[in-house]
Amino acid sequence: MDISTTKKDESGNVLKPESRYSDWGVFGLGYRPGCSSIVSTFRLGTSNRKLLLERIKKVCNHELGHNFGLPHCTSSETCVLRDAAETIKTVDNVDDTLCNICKAKI
Ligand SMILES: [Zn+2]
Ligand SMILES: [Zn+2]
Repeated sequence: MDISTTKKDESGNVLKPESRYSDWGVFGLGYRPGCSSIVSTFRLGTSNRKLLLERIKKVCNHELGHNFGLPHCTSSETCVLRDAAETIKTVDNVDDTLCNICKAKI
């Protein structure tokens, strides 16, 4: 099943163009901080089972990072908490763990 969110700016207005951002499909979403998150395989689709499991692991670790209160990482190119919202390529390019700077925060 696909999952989506509505992307808003700091003042709560839906980003433009609204048709694109009002129903923005995501790999996963996590409360920051919080104790729940959701991950969907819908957009992680690949017939390569190993790759799929790797992607799921990364998205789970990413959302868990948010649950621990961490924002998106700007310190490391390969941190699992890099903003992966836009493309599957970002997911494939990061490690499956937090960088040392993020780790030090939790
Ligand atoms: Zn995120
Ligand atoms: Zn990081």
